[in-house]
Amino acid sequence: MTDLARLLAANEAYAAARANVADARPSRHLAVLTCMDARIDVFAVLGLHLGEAHVLRNAGGRVTDDVLRSLALSCHVLGVDTVVVMQHTGCGLAGVSDEDLRARTGADLGFFPIDDHRAALEEDVRLLAATPFLSPVRAIAGLVYDVESGLLDDVVRWEAPVSRSSSR
Ligand code: ZN
Repeated sequence: MTDLARLLAANEAYAAARANVADARPSRHLAVLTCMDARIDVFAVLGLHLGEAHVLRNAGGRVTDDVLRSLALSCHVLGVDTVVVMQHTGCGLAGVSDEDLRARTGADLGFFPIDDHRAALEEDVRLLAATPFLSPVRAIAGLVYDVESGLLDDVVRWEAPVSRSSSR
């Protein structure tokens, strides 16, 4: 339990110094979807601070049903109108197939593997934009984070048509 003790000790230090966050609504009206990869410090990469954004993470940073569930709440209950989808270089889901991953894990699941970052981001941004219950979302960006250089590649942008803003 040494690792757990380290986590708990770090938490004591954090609690003593943490920001005062009274509002659960992300102050920058932003949700970031990214991979669970241990090399991505989401807040540091994007210059975010506590209380400013929702951060959703899964393997690959792909748009799954559970991501849609979370974003429905983000945009209808918690004021989010901008979504950033951030994939990254060196991702374990790139260049593999569902068949490979099913064989390696024994899990009969869809793993949302990535053949090509641009194609996968375009697919995910298109899915978010086309999901009727995410209509409060006004802007979506698809980025690729380079884990070696720390830089972002701005790959896909989507903005809501003006007609959708009339309901706001
Ligand atoms: Zn990854």
